[in-house]
Amino acid sequence: MNFCSECGSAVMLCVPTGDHLPRYVCPECGTIHYQNPKMVVGCIPEWEDKVLLCRRAIEPRYGLWTLPAGFMENGETTLEGAARETWEEARARIEIGGLYTLYNVPHANQVHFLFRARLLDLDFQPGIESLETRLFAEADIPWDKIAFRTVRATLEQYFSDRRAGSFDFHFGDIRTR
Ligand code: ZN
Repeated sequence: MNFCSECGSAVMLCVPTGDHLPRYVCPECGTIHYQNPKMVVGCIPEWEDKVLLCRRAIEPRYGLWTLPAGFMENGETTLEGAARETWEEARARIEIGGLYTLYNVPHANQVHFLFRARLLDLDFQPGIESLETRLFAEADIPWDKIAFRTVRATLEQYFSDRRAGSFDFHFGDIRTR
């Protein structure tokens, strides 16, 4: 951050009185610009023994496969965000189930929430952020072309739970890219 979003003055990085971390502080209007982790919400759209993946038409990780997910918007819930991202990226209608995985991604200042979801029909197609949308059985998952660690971890967990016949909530930390 270079300039104050309140008054346009140049900000400085310093530890405010009573705080313990450096913040961007505006010396003109006194606003402290806190920066906190962002939430990424998405889902695993299921159809019979398959899951829906999207091939990314945008950077980062252009051309690689991911579950529909993206940054939560102000004014929406995590479930609404997951359903919106699924519509935007795959034009897919879903019924959201429970929260399935939660991953802290501290090096990226993000927390990822992935829900289980049921596809309501097969009338999906690539949204503007996707090159391709496709259902994959476990044997066909393109493991060497998965875009994100959290998506890979969620898919591995999903198919492992499916083999075990029981889906439980999982959470963990992803500390490397
Ligand atoms: Zn200011």
